[in-house]
Amino acid sequence: MDLSFSRAEEAFRADLGAWLAANVPPEWRGGEPPEFASLGDEVAFLRDWQHRLADAGWVGVHWPREYGGRGATVGEHYVFQEEMAAARAPEIINRIGVNLVGPTLIAHGTDEQRRRFLPKILPADELWCQLFSEPGAGSDLTALRTRAEPTSGGWVVNGQKVWTSYAQFARWGILLARTDPSASKAKGISYLICDMHAPGVTVRPLRQMTGSEEFNEVFLEDVFIPHDQLVGREHDGWSIANTTLAHERGTSPRQLVIHRMLLNDLLRIAREGVDGAPPPAADPVLRQRIARHFIEVEITRLNNWRTLTRLQKRLPPGPESSFVKLFWSEMSQGMHDTLMELLGSRGLCWQPGPRAVAGGRLARSYLYYRAATLFAGTSEIQRNILAERVLGLPRSR
Ligand SMILES: Cc1cc2nc3c(=O)[nH]c(=O)nc-3n(C[C@H](O)[C@H](O)[C@H](O)COP(=O)(O)OP(=O)(O)OC[C@H]3O[C@@H](n4cnc5c(N)ncnc54)[C@H](O)[C@@H]3O)c2cc1C
Repeated sequence: MDLSFSRAEEAFRADLGAWLAANVPPEWRGGEPPEFASLGDEVAFLRDWQHRLADAGWVGVHWPREYGGRGATVGEHYVFQEEMAAARAPEIINRIGVNLVGPTLIAHGTDEQRRRFLPKILPADELWCQLFSEPGAGSDLTALRTRAEPTSGGWVVNGQKVWTSYAQFARWGILLARTDPSASKAKGISYLICDMHAPGVTVRPLRQMTGSEEFNEVFLEDVFIPHDQLVGREHDGWSIANTTLAHERGTSPRQLVIHRMLLNDLLRIAREGVDGAPPPAADPVLRQRIARHFIEVEITRLNNWRTLTRLQKRLPPGPESSFVKLFWSEMSQGMHDTLMELLGSRGLCWQPGPRAVAGGRLARSYLYYRAATLFAGTSEIQRNILAERVLGLPRSR
């Protein structure tokens, strides 16, 4: 078994590493990114950052060259995500466009759609959002009730979406809507491209416990979508949505690197203590917990490599990729629980200020990662997949 990266992958890593060393803003590199006055300011900064990355050819590296990518292999794409996280580079803002919409349009879009939409995704000239979840349809997306009814030249859409990240900044959204209400749940759904500036689209931000408002409710009232914004065939949206959803799971090298860094934070605080209190590292129970987290991070690395091996052999990630998502997300929450115990009352200071540890970054991380067991499929759903498709247990009712 050879677990090392190839020479080409290492050369790719060196090129990217050199670019990042010269271009990642110093505050980010130091691990304490600046606080922005508003989410709008942060999005503007991140659009500019993505534009610079794209100019240097470092966005959508896994896209084919003819669409502006580098045609990177799965190994190179993995290295790319690892290096970005290790350099503490800001994440690109148009993640939905680059990671979900691009690959979906390349696989299922028309030439015209590819020509019209793809070039503006990589440099973040147009941001995208994902209009899938609804108040009554999250884990079971096929229960969605948003309707698209035929009209002259296209469809008229009515319904409500929720948890739509960055919808208030998006120019376009990928939308799942029911076009054939008489068909069985998954059969009558179509995959449409929604103009977020069209009359009838209302976006209402939702405030999260991190204080941020990147989530939204989206109301669609008599929104017209023309025929040329249908992706694939009418009523066949569910199979196309599965292309999109498959890109949400698989490997998570970014999370691996982030949690390695979190482990370093845990070790540092355990050795140094907080507020002049004796360093807690001598506590035998705490030592056991931190050792367990170290082992879990190593298991996450091996899980990632197992999926990577499948992808390199051109096999689909398979239902086992649910294990990768389930394991890292639950590991994350366990590590953050240990972190909060170490921070004690200082863990309550999640905004910058004199009593906040690391400017509140660690406490905000705790709050943010509560969502890890929900997005891209909840832990219960991952367990159902593993029970039924890996262990062969009967379907739950
Ligand atoms: C940070 C974040 C970003 C997101 N961004 C987007 C986005 O941009 N666009 C978008 O469309 N969606 C987005 N989502 C929504 C996300 O996909 C849903 O939250 C997720 O699919 C769960 O759906 P739900 O919230 O409706 O919960 P529900 O499906 O209502 O589930 C509620 C609870 O019931 C459990 N449950 C449900 N069904 C079963 C079952 N069959 N067996 C056992 N337990 C079950 C769930 O595990 C959960 O604990 C985002 C979510 C988060 C947290």
